[in-house]
Amino acid sequence: MPVPSSAYIGRFAPSPSGPLHFGSLIAAVGSYLQAKSQHGQWLVRMEDIDTPRMVPGADSDILRTLEQFGLHWDGTVLYQSQRLERYQQIFRHLQQQQLIYGCQCSRKQISESGGIYTGRCATLKLTTEPLAWRLKSQGVASQFTDLIFGPQQIPAALAQEDYIIKRRDGLFAYQLVVVVDDIDQGITEVIRGADLLQMTPRQQALCTLLGAVAPQYGHLPLAVIKPGFKLSKQNHAEPVSQWPVSKVMANVLAFLGLSLPTDLQQAPVTQQLDWATAHWQLSIIPRRQEINCTQFA
Ligand code: GLU
Repeated sequence: MPVPSSAYIGRFAPSPSGPLHFGSLIAAVGSYLQAKSQHGQWLVRMEDIDTPRMVPGADSDILRTLEQFGLHWDGTVLYQSQRLERYQQIFRHLQQQQLIYGCQCSRKQISESGGIYTGRCATLKLTTEPLAWRLKSQGVASQFTDLIFGPQQIPAALAQEDYIIKRRDGLFAYQLVVVVDDIDQGITEVIRGADLLQMTPRQQALCTLLGAVAPQYGHLPLAVIKPGFKLSKQNHAEPVSQWPVSKVMANVLAFLGLSLPTDLQQAPVTQQLDWATAHWQLSIIPRRQEINCTQFA
């Protein structure tokens, strides 16, 4: 057994908007193996901040499926819905620092002007709700080095976009809460799907703005059903809990670049995970941002 170390803390942060599917299991297994191979802790956080999208019972369903796949987390599961006061405190802090401003632009207006927000409300000092609240980007870098994909360059306009941290409907935005949680949970490394790769520089910058050291980020290839179409709850990906556990785990590991020896293909999942932990390295992961998963799932 690896000696637990306080140095490495990783996490898996599902949104409980449906059961765990092949795509989300890849992020769970990838982040788990990375944490365990570093003798670190692996935390689970329920990203249930976007309440209209949440499905009652999906959180316990996800946790049951993680256990079924031998993915036992450290500590207690953190729920974003329990942390609104903390987010409000950070929001107030940013407001006092005059780093945010109210915005009344609609999604339609923004998409008509090219899809990236260009700061139209930045100087208007709007105060009449309903308003979305945007964080001034203040020169977020457009490069970062990904632990898996190496040096990355993202569009400068996207990096420098003033983005929403509190939505017009009053809910705190993912972009704010993910960073506050990663800081508060002491996350040292984030391993997650490549769909969030372009959001990394702004999240690193917000960490720094809040006085914390940003974690390192590594992105895993995304499971797609055809180019550009992520396997997701929205396109009715089937829940993995209904499939044979060892076969699914062998497929997830193959997707991540680890081919189990023949005698472990059907073995109990704990044996498969022990072998995978011992053989895991980020360098074995295919350097492709999308992989068609119909050959695996
Ligand atoms: N909650 C996000 C998702 O389910 C993941 C966020 C993250 O890992 O930063 O896609």
